[in-house]
Amino acid sequence: MEYYALPIAKLIEQLSKLPGIGKKTAQRLAFYILEMDPLEVEKLALSIKEAKEKIHYCKICCNLTESDICHICSDDKRDKSIICVVEGAKDIVAMEKTKEYKGLYHVLHGVISPMDNIGPNEIKVKELLNRRQNGQVKEVILATNPTVEGEATALYISKLLKPLGVKTTRIAHGIPVGGDLEYFDEVTLSKAMENRREI
Ligand SMILES: [Zn+2]
Repeated sequence: MEYYALPIAKLIEQLSKLPGIGKKTAQRLAFYILEMDPLEVEKLALSIKEAKEKIHYCKICCNLTESDICHICSDDKRDKSIICVVEGAKDIVAMEKTKEYKGLYHVLHGVISPMDNIGPNEIKVKELLNRRQNGQVKEVILATNPTVEGEATALYISKLLKPLGVKTTRIAHGIPVGGDLEYFDEVTLSKAMENRREI
């Protein structure tokens, strides 16, 4: 890092904190930014700041939204008796692309992972349990990723919901183990939803 002027070193350091960006890529991006039109750099910086300032969690499903309630929760045409539980807000985008699911969602913002000190209180489980209090929820589809943590989280939630009389289902494994929902094609994801089983 000592080869760079301090502002460049700082930029490379910040960029390399992003997922999937190694030191080499961070360096390439930093030099690219320095060659960019100042107005474009301003726009980039502003869009990052603005997104971070304006976006927050939906009061109902914890999806990312600019309003109090996200566009899915406030859509009257959605089936309010089904909730599909996902790990991250980007999984909703993947699910919506299938154009087949018409229920609501719940974003956990993580999975239970004792190795990383993430327990049920660190993710949005409590918020999910609170949602069945209105009596509308009949089925909760657990669509966490098919990883060890995703499976454990699904099982944990199903154990909490079952005694409350809510049907809990798990999406089928057309999905490869260790996979990430966001990268599945629409057909695989549709099939996984279709073939979900009760747990
Ligand atoms: Zn919502």
